[in-house]
Amino acid sequence: MRLYNCPSCGGMLYFMNSACSACNADVAFHPGKDAFVEADEACSNRDEIGCNWARDLADESLCHACRMTDVVPDLSVIPNGALWAEAEVAKRWVLATLARWGWFRAGSPEPLPAFHFKSAQTRDGTKRVMMGHANGVITINVAEADDAIRVRNRQMLDEEYRTMLGHMRHELAHFIFDRLSTEPGFSEQFRALFGDEQADYGAALKRHYAKGPPAGWQEQYVTPYASAHPHEDWAETSAHILHLVDMVDSAVATGLSWPTQYRPPADAYAATDGNELIHVAIDLGMASNQLTRAMGLNDLYPFVLTPAVRDKLEFAQHWLNRAVREPILPASGQRGPDG
Ligand SMILES: [Zn+2]
Ligand SMILES: [Zn+2]
Ligand SMILES: [Zn+2]
Repeated sequence: MRLYNCPSCGGMLYFMNSACSACNADVAFHPGKDAFVEADEACSNRDEIGCNWARDLADESLCHACRMTDVVPDLSVIPNGALWAEAEVAKRWVLATLARWGWFRAGSPEPLPAFHFKSAQTRDGTKRVMMGHANGVITINVAEADDAIRVRNRQMLDEEYRTMLGHMRHELAHFIFDRLSTEPGFSEQFRALFGDEQADYGAALKRHYAKGPPAGWQEQYVTPYASAHPHEDWAETSAHILHLVDMVDSAVATGLSWPTQYRPPADAYAATDGNELIHVAIDLGMASNQLTRAMGLNDLYPFVLTPAVRDKLEFAQHWLNRAVREPILPASGQRGPDG
């Protein structure tokens, strides 16, 4: 993630800021401008969920990210409101980084995902919530924003890593898959690396939950869940390339000295050599693990990336990066790539 500047004093702002710590100005992130503006253009969800984005259209009260939310949990039940707000933080982060690769930009006429934020806890009792993507709708269980619940689920599912940010990346990758699968060449290349995604999905998941991943899954898959079905392999792999590129981008933005023989690209999202980018990210991940160990925390990036997994990551990096693969339609009022 980039660092930003205060529209009032020019001081540094983090993406999550809604006020400037230097001059106290209230600020809002404007997705169409990829910059912070004065908060008088703020999203109408600012007070309710702390959304720090600006309205991108004069005739809309909500921001680009909040307009993608179609369902919110039962807010009469505590703490659904706080959990929903936490989940929206992760969504805004992932949308802003995907925009760097040309996805879901404010003002673009392309189809956008619809988010359904649900909680099992409702005023009428407990209802089961299934997270996932189907036909453009992404369902998120806001309980996953609760640390205790998420860690319990992570341990139950024997996962190394589980975050709301990871859920957003995973589910949006499913949405993007449907878009990419109509592009010439995608499906052939995908099936050669990941297998045939037309294989029976329900049966595959049933098998995964009954028997777990196959022995030696680490050779081929970034996570155990990726071995369940080619669709899940794509979503897990895509989430990981988004993690890795964001790590490199954030390290470059904050001016960290580089722990590796590989040099980072000036703009991680504009990099075209996926193989080199992945090398840079792996070295950074290992150095960062040492930092988190110094605080007694879990490894920042607790994964091993084999050659087969790196090939898939490189494939995902190539296809996800629309900004390089195809010209982007400029958002209304924005300059084109040559402007
Ligand atoms: Zn300021
Ligand atoms: Zn908003
Ligand atoms: Zn999935």
